Amino acid sequence: MSTLYPDFLEKYLTEKEITTLKERESLHTYQFNELTFVRLSQEYKDYPRGAVFYEKGIIPGYPRIMRILHLENGINRYFKDSFYVEEKVDGYNIRIAVINGTPLAFTRGGFICPFTTDRIPDLIDTNFFKEYPEYIICGEVVGPGSPYNTEAIPYVDEDVVFLVFDILDEEGIRLHIEDRYKIFERFNIQQIRRWGPFNVSGGTSDMDEIKKIILELDRDGREGIVIKPVSDGKSVKYVTLSSCLRDLEATAHLITELPAGFFTQRILRAVFFCHEFGIPLSSEYLISSAKALYLIPEQTLKKVADGESVKEFFDVRVRNKNTVDELIQHLNRSGVRTQLVSVEKSGDHYRAKFHRIYIKGTRELRHRLMGKGFFD
Ligand code: ATP
Repeated sequence: MSTLYPDFLEKYLTEKEITTLKERESLHTYQFNELTFVRLSQEYKDYPRGAVFYEKGIIPGYPRIMRILHLENGINRYFKDSFYVEEKVDGYNIRIAVINGTPLAFTRGGFICPFTTDRIPDLIDTNFFKEYPEYIICGEVVGPGSPYNTEAIPYVDEDVVFLVFDILDEEGIRLHIEDRYKIFERFNIQQIRRWGPFNVSGGTSDMDEIKKIILELDRDGREGIVIKPVSDGKSVKYVTLSSCLRDLEATAHLITELPAGFFTQRILRAVFFCHEFGIPLSSEYLISSAKALYLIPEQTLKKVADGESVKEFFDVRVRNKNTVDELIQHLNRSGVRTQLVSVEKSGDHYRAKFHRIYIKGTRELRHRLMGKGFFD
């Protein structure tokens, strides 16, 4: 086997599979605490993107969730039996697993996140792992103190919280939904909000109830829902009208950084929502969307013309000072440059302020300002 990949990979994948994955450049080796990990950067067979292999096992990837754009028809299509509705929150996905006695936080892509790993004792009761060392806790880190997200969350005022929504075993099998609710309750681990169980096969009253929930979430500035079956089956996700606008407002400065599909998807989701709920798109919504899509990029262009870069500001809290350097290194791996502004002691934590600078998006605006032509 190639010296590029550790021998333990052969425990989990055949030689042919390893060769295929190498050709696709899907295997990436990294070290953490003197341990070697290999992360999968693209989905392969039953392994979702972000699965991580190491000497003693696999951290399964968090499965993708299918989206529906028509709530009622989507539920009728995919849910013949009982299901729960969970709130969908907008932060970043984390899987926490114990490796060699240490809880580590893995990002969706299979990196170890130094920030989240540092904050685990603030986020969950780690006694959970004394009873269930083989389980992987999955959830979303949300809040203004996130090192990845800039969208304002109306329900978290400061720092971050970890809202859990799944337990995976080593084979990537989800724990039964109601067992999961009970276990997390027992350890007082903060779960995502939920409603149910529902069953729509018997009539429409549950469907009416679900529609009421989504309209309430929409009004409250929440992102949406994930609908999960009680027994086997797939989960689906559905988002609110207001979340589409908030997404545009939070990302329009990255118009030269993100794929165009990111923006058109939000428009389509909004149009479907209004169609199904018979809501006319108000002038206020239309003006806000147009402002987001034109005024924010206009302001960004002005800044770049004045010599600035496309950037975002972050203010995060960590327990150990070393974590700040590790976080910066981790963030720099993604092609977005990170510039530290300050690190200060603040109570039990250190507070790190930094900018993330979007090189590609800035370069594109600069080139256009310089008159450089391009084919579109
Ligand atoms: P995907 O990989 O599923 O195609 P994505 O990475 O683009 O999607 P989203 O479209 O935001 O992300 O939706 C899926 C994500 O929503 C999950 O990966 C998870 O991090 C997050 N999420 C928030 N709330 C929940 C919840 N209650 N149950 C499951 N996932 C949730």
